[in-house]
Amino acid sequence: PATVPPPSDAVVLFDGADLSGWRSARDGRPAAWKVEGGAMVVESRTGDIVSAESFGDVQLHIEWATPAAVSGDGQGRGNSGVFLMERYEIQVLDSFQNPTYPDGQAAAIYGQTPPLVNASRRPGDWQAFDIVFIAPRFAQGVVISPARVTVHHNGVLVQHDVALMGATAHRVVGVYEPHPPAAPLKLQDHGNPVRFRNIWVRRLGG
Ligand code: MG
Repeated sequence: PATVPPPSDAVVLFDGADLSGWRSARDGRPAAWKVEGGAMVVESRTGDIVSAESFGDVQLHIEWATPAAVSGDGQGRGNSGVFLMERYEIQVLDSFQNPTYPDGQAAAIYGQTPPLVNASRRPGDWQAFDIVFIAPRFAQGVVISPARVTVHHNGVLVQHDVALMGATAHRVVGVYEPHPPAAPLKLQDHGNPVRFRNIWVRRLGG
């Protein structure tokens, strides 16, 4: 099973009960997504949500499921995203027999690096990302050490200590803009009712 219970040193960001650890990314008001059946569900057009707490280097565990009833195709099917530090997206997508551009599929570093393999489960099935993220370092306004990420998708290594080119973006090469050493985790409202559960983070220091 994809579920990994939070260890004792984890910050639990969502335990299935409520969205008290989350805010609207737009205006900082309480997050307007739904909570049902122990999962949070993207409420279309309410916008992205961000964690109240900020993080730098982390291990992140997050479980997600795209809709069991398939609708749309390509980037329109079960699209969401996990943004480290609000800027660096690991793509959430229904990539089960759903062709799209390689660096747009599930577990891609969006717009930069496709996953090593497609480890997707069927639509509606719970899936998991286990992510180790090392924040970029800046000095005098320039990046001196890029962000690095390792991702396991359903237990399969799909990103192996990959250096990011900068913030992730659609059809442009992302650049690094200096930012604080800690920033919230962000989850994307891309208009599809993707579910999330069992979200926890371990600070790695540094
Ligand atoms: Mg996305």
